[in-house]
Amino acid sequence: MKYRVLIGMEVHLQLRTKSKMFCRCPVRFGAPPNTLTCPVCLGMPGALPVPNRDAMIRAIALARALDCDIATDTKFDRKNYFYPDLPKGYQISQFDRPLATGGCVEIVTEEGIKRIRLRRIHIEEDVGKNIHEDGSKLSRVDFNRAGTPLVEIVSEPDIASPEEAHKYLDALRAVVRYLDISDANMQEGNLRCEPNVNIHIETEDGVVKTPIVEVKNLNSMRNVERAAICEIARHQELYRELGAKVADLPRSTCGFDDQTDKTFVMRQKEEAHDYRYFPEPDIPPIQIGSAWLGTANDMVPELPRAKRQRFADDYGLSAYDAENLCRERSTADYFETVVKAGAAAKPTANWLLGDVSFHAKERQVAIAALGLAASRLASMVNLVEEGKVSRKAAEKDLLPRMIAEGADPAQLVTDLGLAQVDDSSVLEEAARQAIAQNPKAAADFRAGKEKALNALKGLVMRETRGKANPTVVESVLRNILETE
Ligand SMILES: [Zn+2]
Repeated sequence: MKYRVLIGMEVHLQLRTKSKMFCRCPVRFGAPPNTLTCPVCLGMPGALPVPNRDAMIRAIALARALDCDIATDTKFDRKNYFYPDLPKGYQISQFDRPLATGGCVEIVTEEGIKRIRLRRIHIEEDVGKNIHEDGSKLSRVDFNRAGTPLVEIVSEPDIASPEEAHKYLDALRAVVRYLDISDANMQEGNLRCEPNVNIHIETEDGVVKTPIVEVKNLNSMRNVERAAICEIARHQELYRELGAKVADLPRSTCGFDDQTDKTFVMRQKEEAHDYRYFPEPDIPPIQIGSAWLGTANDMVPELPRAKRQRFADDYGLSAYDAENLCRERSTADYFETVVKAGAAAKPTANWLLGDVSFHAKERQVAIAALGLAASRLASMVNLVEEGKVSRKAAEKDLLPRMIAEGADPAQLVTDLGLAQVDDSSVLEEAARQAIAQNPKAAADFRAGKEKALNALKGLVMRETRGKANPTVVESVLRNILETE
């Protein structure tokens, strides 16, 4: 079966603001149920919503960062539906005049940079939360979340595989975190996404399109990927069963069960007309002027893609290293501080993405939050580069203590007696002993077997209890073997 995968992504992002979208209730997670509410967010008759300026500006900054066209005139609409977590019976959202249109999210694929086009970005309010307690027949509703500012970011179906879906979310989240407008954490629900999946099958009679399925309830990047894989397989199966008739099936909405790793059809997908959108009569249309645009502009820092490019150009890093360093703004900034403190860029990148990253993951913090002073890391990187301490000793003895105790690496080298031996007269004696112990390796090397040198190097390292500078050991050995 020859087919093409089309995935469009709808992302809901909670903005980190002090107060809710249309009232003054604080936005806070974890407060006792229904303590952060007022007549506006509870939908009491006569209560009037007032848009949150901060939320508007944050959303504009996001639109800027994603190269969208920002509307000069925008308005809010009522999206009508009934659900217990929606106290008003409608959600204030945006319909025909969204905040922004166009723009794109760039992802890095094997073939290079791919631009996933965006359709629109609009602002709306979050709903409350239904709580179903185990063993209870009751459902309770907590309205603390109701009215929290949300932006919805809708992409075109340019995402061509489950893996690209993951990359898209990663890239979008990186931009959001650079802007510092949301925690964008899927587990905590401040970033929620609904992939819209279908496949186009090439047949002798033309292209057959399976109906678009929207997948809900995904709480991790991994589940997004798994759900997409599952849907693609299901669409192929449907085509095998129904042939071209598959195109006549209605659009539907699916859930995903991460226990069974399966998607399940919940209902037919709603169409826009089902929601009876109409203009929100309590909020006049909004004109976005230069003052808001200026403030939003000032919020946009150097973004991941520009930073990646600069890191590659200025520091000679590989695309891979640059991408990984720039994923979190704090890590990228930290890298630059270490380099400014005098460490060479490439080894610094290796340390950060290797051992330092390992310690950060173990403690579940960002690299920059490890408490590792940039100047100390720089001095450790230099000690290794200058051959004053072995990489292994730095990994095993220096770095863990620097992180745990804030220790100074040069001091540790002295205190722990870790200084590398690079005095060639000392090493020459050890090298001669090694050659005497393993004359076969020496003969092999002289006969042209380069690898035989490793055995001799190993002996010298053992003799010096790992403290010999491997580069000097190698040159001393070569010198003896090649000239004597
Ligand atoms: Zn309120």
